[in-house]
Amino acid sequence: MTYVVGLTGGIGSGKSTIAELFAELGVPIIDADLVARQVVEKGSPLLAEIAAHFGPEILLEDGALNRAALREKIFANETQKHWLNQLLHPAIRHEMLRQLAAQQAPYCIFMVPLLIENNLTALCQRILVVDVLEHTQVERAGQRDNNQVEQIKRIMQSQVNRQERLKYADDVINNNEDLIANLPQLKQKVLDLHHLYLQLAEKFNER
Ligand code: ATP
Repeated sequence: MTYVVGLTGGIGSGKSTIAELFAELGVPIIDADLVARQVVEKGSPLLAEIAAHFGPEILLEDGALNRAALREKIFANETQKHWLNQLLHPAIRHEMLRQLAAQQAPYCIFMVPLLIENNLTALCQRILVVDVLEHTQVERAGQRDNNQVEQIKRIMQSQVNRQERLKYADDVINNNEDLIANLPQLKQKVLDLHHLYLQLAEKFNER
């Protein structure tokens, strides 16, 4: 069984950036956001079920999910939101477990923005937190998302705060420094963790 390192951090903290550095070392990355999209991809049984419930207007012309239309349907409607969540959450969890179980590598990085909030820590043997100051999160996510500062702050409030997240961390990557100046140090930190995870994975599989 593959050793699972959960990679988490708040919005704009640098999870994808760090995951990319692990990927460069040949480590498989399982991205929870991607899994959540895969379970409702075009032609999937789950998407058909959602369309049967909400109507064909939640589909785009090509048969893919129209996310904006679906968001509209559940916006301010707790009953419909609940219906959708009770359908999606078990399916997403099932698909995550399937993808983790299919891994052949000694360890994999399981990138989950809401690892703590959604109680997924039990799926991981170890937790790696990407940590940045809150104002850095706002700045970087703002630059990336065309300065939707209020929305970014709302998302930050819906996520656990820095201190709370750090309590769950076995390992921490500090990503406050600018990437251009700090890339060699960041790469070294990732390489050190890579060696540690290979050792831990070996012990885990000896059991
Ligand atoms: P989200 O959960 O919001 O998808 P994330 O945690 O995956 O975000 P990234 O997408 O990796 O974060 O980083 C957010 C933005 O900040 C990106 O535009 C990225 O290029 C940039 N960024 C990440 N790390 C640094 C850094 N050390 N210095 C400067 N910019 C950075």
